[in-house]
Amino acid sequence: MRVIVIGCGIGGATISLGLSRAGISHVVLEQAGELAEVGAGLQMSPNATRVLQNLGLGDDLARFCVEPAAHYFTESRNGEVLMKTPLMPKAQEIFGAPYYHAHRADLLAALVKRMDPGCVRLNTAVESVEQTSEAVTVRLKGGGVEIGDVLIGADGIHSLVREQVFKPDPPRETGCVAWRGLVPVKAAQALGFERNSYIWMGPDRSMVLYYVRGGKMFNWVGIGPFNAKARESWSAKGSKAAALREYAGWHSQITDLINGTDALFMTALNDRDPLESWVAGRIGLMGDAAHAMMPFHAQGAAQSIEDSWVLTRCLEEAAEGEVAAALKRYEALRLTRANRVQQQSRAAEHLFHMTDPDEIARRNARFARHEASSQEGFPPGQQWLFAYDAEKAVRGDDAEWRAMSW
Ligand SMILES: Cc1cc2nc3c(=O)[nH]c(=O)nc-3n(C[C@H](O)[C@H](O)[C@H](O)COP(=O)(O)OP(=O)(O)OC[C@H]3O[C@@H](n4cnc5c(N)ncnc54)[C@H](O)[C@@H]3O)c2cc1C
Repeated sequence: MRVIVIGCGIGGATISLGLSRAGISHVVLEQAGELAEVGAGLQMSPNATRVLQNLGLGDDLARFCVEPAAHYFTESRNGEVLMKTPLMPKAQEIFGAPYYHAHRADLLAALVKRMDPGCVRLNTAVESVEQTSEAVTVRLKGGGVEIGDVLIGADGIHSLVREQVFKPDPPRETGCVAWRGLVPVKAAQALGFERNSYIWMGPDRSMVLYYVRGGKMFNWVGIGPFNAKARESWSAKGSKAAALREYAGWHSQITDLINGTDALFMTALNDRDPLESWVAGRIGLMGDAAHAMMPFHAQGAAQSIEDSWVLTRCLEEAAEGEVAAALKRYEALRLTRANRVQQQSRAAEHLFHMTDPDEIARRNARFARHEASSQEGFPPGQQWLFAYDAEKAVRGDDAEWRAMSW
């Protein structure tokens, strides 16, 4: 069997490791000239770190990640902590894998270091894809053709595979932007930020904050509506003055942090509507190509990592000549969960950005009740997300997880 993967982001790189582990011949076609991620952070929950550990990245993760003590849900104006849920060591004890914060560049470098260099082709943009009952054919920009048995579209939110094979609709413009910045550890400590995962909620906008790079840098991402034009870009600079205007009235811990950030970036946030199917014959979608989502539950990369494991294992267990059935099995195992996360991520915008004072009071009271009553500390949504074990899902051993609800 020969698999062609389009895209070498976190999803494409992870599936390449899985395919190599399973001894499946493959090539990853990547349009970029180098494999690099931007200087932004990534929250990685146990459902994803478990897969990465299975792929042999455990020691690397422990070296460059930060394991936060707790999640703090905080009120934007007065800095009051509304709910605190445990992460270390509870995540490891309860879910069998740690909750980590990583710098994206560190994670991608760790994945790429383990990839077979012969499996990836850079500067290789795909122009079109097609299939017959016998094979898939990929035409490259500038000429050239790749032929294989299976095609995986891991080509992100603007997926060409999705557009050509599934649904040619554009991503949804959410009207929100994400501001982000990285500050040195000393500056963050001076403002009182400890080794936690912070979620600050205010009318109309929110901010998440956490340490990365083994604790040397502090990452913040602020999300909210923005009336001026913004483009989707990880490298577009943002104006500090504009960010301070957006976060005016917030507690000084946040406004001082924005003020103390040297380089600010801003990207428009888009997501996708759920698809009814990600598989057509010998072609399948994964990661953002299948289910690009809002970042409120920090699950986009995590879902792409889960997809990678399940998809590889379905191909590994496929009977000779049964790749279409293997892809259908992957879809049956993955689609409902990933689409649910996608929908919950969209709905969470309201939870974090609500403006009506009565509704805010009810939400805050609910948070306080949860903190007082919870045995283990993890809200049902987090339990449902974190307890998922991609290998158990493949083996059909996941009855315990299936009994949970969100
Ligand atoms: C502000 C923000 C914060 C986030 N925080 C988190 C978080 O904390 N935790 C989390 O799990 N997720 C988070 N996410 C989501 C996460 O970033 C994405 O879900 C994840 O990076 C998607 O990975 P992917 O490999 O599917 O796609 P991508 O990373 O988009 O990779 C797609 C690759 O395909 C290549 N490509 C595209 N078209 C072609 C073509 N025609 N030919 C060849 N190559 C092509 C691209 O160059 C790219 O390398 C966040 C997202 C945002 C916007």
